[in-house]
Amino acid sequence: MNPLTLQFAPAAAIPVHLIGEVQSKLAYVDERIAKAQISPAGDQISLELKRAVPTAEQAVIEEKVQRVVVSMAQGAIRPKVQVLEDYLDRPTPFAGDPMPELLRRGELSREANGIYALGPLLSHLIDWFERRFLGLAESFSAQPYRFPTLIPAQYLERVGYFRAFPHSLSFATHLREDLDQIDAFAAGAACDDHGNLNVPLERFAPIQTLLSPAVCYHLYFTLADQTLSPQGITATAVGNCFRYESLNLQSLERLWNFTMREVIFVGDKDFVLENRELARQRMQRVFGEIGFAYRVESANDPFFIGEFRKQAAFQSAFQLKYEIRARLPFKDGTLAVGSYNYHQDFFGRHLNIRLPDGSPAHTGCVAFGLERIAFAFLAQFGFDPTQWPSSMQEILP
Ligand code: ATP
Ligand code: ZN
Ligand code: MG
Repeated sequence: MNPLTLQFAPAAAIPVHLIGEVQSKLAYVDERIAKAQISPAGDQISLELKRAVPTAEQAVIEEKVQRVVVSMAQGAIRPKVQVLEDYLDRPTPFAGDPMPELLRRGELSREANGIYALGPLLSHLIDWFERRFLGLAESFSAQPYRFPTLIPAQYLERVGYFRAFPHSLSFATHLREDLDQIDAFAAGAACDDHGNLNVPLERFAPIQTLLSPAVCYHLYFTLADQTLSPQGITATAVGNCFRYESLNLQSLERLWNFTMREVIFVGDKDFVLENRELARQRMQRVFGEIGFAYRVESANDPFFIGEFRKQAAFQSAFQLKYEIRARLPFKDGTLAVGSYNYHQDFFGRHLNIRLPDGSPAHTGCVAFGLERIAFAFLAQFGFDPTQWPSSMQEILP
């Protein structure tokens, strides 16, 4: 066996429905892992390492992997997948991978892993979808909001984000307000060959702020400690979101820095659930008009290892999350381009948002990943606009 590969059986059987979820978490197990793979039957784990590792250290890595496996897979119950719409079989004219063509045309420029600049074609496509999402927002008379890209650590702490998604957090800081520190930085700051800045950590201020991982949280915080009027709140906003997805960062499919459009509902349970359902039906029409191939099915959030089993089971049991999974013909797979979410009264309770009767408010959101929807569209319809749905052909100047 290649000394850079470790292979072993998982300590607990990994059910097929959890393979992707467990595999994506293996990226966070050890910095020496370059690639982690679980066999299709879930009975073999293989790790590619960045460099050869002594046997004793191999055992340490294996032990950490097994901790992930046991924690996520042992006693896991297969949730019943609920399919609300299934248009995966719609014929679409293209079957290539858009990435090489986007890079070749200079439509996509990779700044770093998971960070891309988008050119006119992708921007026009995103604008087209944005107009449909804004149409959806208008159909609910949603009020527009603009939220910052930064979010206070205290906010995320208050809603349990550190426990649920520690692995994907992105932190923001600045130099300490100290002339000597700032002068030393200005004189000597430089990046090494790996792009690492050679600045000692003590030069930075303590971390109070992160890069925001979602849009709707900001709305809930504006409503904290308030009593809502009887008609509730319907809002919409678009924003930069950050999720550090490590080895899973890949093409436009999985970014560190991406943009999300949300339509957000805050009110009583029926208000939120009825609007979430209405939003799904209205988007079904929009996707139908362009012949988009996708399916809407129940899903769960990518909770970190220790929280995963309980939280995922809870989400499934209460039908809290549905994903719009677009077909990617070139890989015979699907990609979540949006989700329909219901948080029950979680934010209402944690942030003290009250209904007129004093009980905690319920919240829900419809969230679309803008880079992903443009990418999935190109994956299905390709680069020749004459093959596109007629309503979209006029978007190119
Ligand atoms: P996934 O299942 O792919 O990890 P998610 O369940 O974490 O996504 P949500 O929290 O529902 O995603 O976010 C709403 C939408 O934002 C997703 O449907 C997707 O389109 C987009 N999105 C989420 N994470 C990323 C990412 N890392 N890169 C690009 N888009 C993303
Ligand atoms: Zn949301
Ligand atoms: Mg998901």
